[in-house]
Amino acid sequence: MKIKLLGKTPDDLKRIVEEEGLPGFTAKQIARWMYVRKAVSIEEMTDISKAGREKLAEKYEVGVTGYASAAVSRDGTKKYLFPVSPGENGGSGQAAVEAVMIPDGDRATLCVSSQSGCRMGCRFCMTGRQGFHGHLRTEEILSQFLAIDEAGSLTNAVFMGMGEPLDNYDNVMRAIEVLTADWGFAWSPKRITVSTIGVIPALKRYLDESRCHLAVSLHDPFPEERLSIMPVEKAWGIGEIVGLIRRYDFSGQRRVSFEYTMFAGFNDSVRHADALIRLLKGLECRVNLIRFHRIPDFPYDCSPDIMMKRFQERLNNAGITATIRASRGEDILAACGMLAGRFRDGK
Ligand code: SF4
Repeated sequence: MKIKLLGKTPDDLKRIVEEEGLPGFTAKQIARWMYVRKAVSIEEMTDISKAGREKLAEKYEVGVTGYASAAVSRDGTKKYLFPVSPGENGGSGQAAVEAVMIPDGDRATLCVSSQSGCRMGCRFCMTGRQGFHGHLRTEEILSQFLAIDEAGSLTNAVFMGMGEPLDNYDNVMRAIEVLTADWGFAWSPKRITVSTIGVIPALKRYLDESRCHLAVSLHDPFPEERLSIMPVEKAWGIGEIVGLIRRYDFSGQRRVSFEYTMFAGFNDSVRHADALIRLLKGLECRVNLIRFHRIPDFPYDCSPDIMMKRFQERLNNAGITATIRASRGEDILAACGMLAGRFRDGK
């Protein structure tokens, strides 16, 4: 099997080209072809000598994985299914992930997957239900950006697809490095948001090492209730997570938001709103209230609109900006919590 170049930095590429007896500047040419010109084969890199390209192609390939299928929602949201290799840690069985392109005016946001399946086991999430099939490699994360039909027009990315991004820290951070570096896609970090349920050791690293935005899946301000739907609460409690976030500055360009999926009769009361206000008081942040899409064997429905509105108003009146996030791509099972990575024949 050939070694993939996608995801490599100019320094990595320099080592490779020198090993192959090619001039050092070839590394910059390769990076430019892959990340700026979005070339998918070594053959396309025509400012490298033909002999040089042939030598490289003996052992290496760019390594963009194409999508296996795409589905388009009535609202223009597009869901792509990607085959992935079984992964490095515990990967077995089903190996497919989904990426969702969400158009919104002049923005096109890609909701990216970071793992095949997920080992966090949130009870309300279809990805969590299927178990863990492996971490995505850097090139598999970047392929989601490069292989889709809208590759040239993406404006933003959210790591909110399948998997817990901070559980696959090194590959996610390497992909973000490629996306934000001058030699890479040269995106501003403001265009990228990483969403986590609060894996504290990796969250601390992320806050120290990255300038991208942060979204935290909060869903319930009471630890014992949160634990009943999110097993992660046992290891890293929501109080500790918010405490860590408070040590960082979010008054500048970097933003933190909290995701709050609304379950009827579970977490949508005034008592919950007030506890959430106490938890987040004084923190520069926003709360996104999310409509829940019912899944089998989970006892709650989505809160009625009136309850969501009341919840939102209570937060807003307390000085916490809260929005009700529009649901996108529901008809193609592309909305929050619905990604399951299934090929059409069910495999
Ligand atoms: Fe994993 Fe996120 Fe689903 Fe929880 S909500 S199981 S962290 S993908």
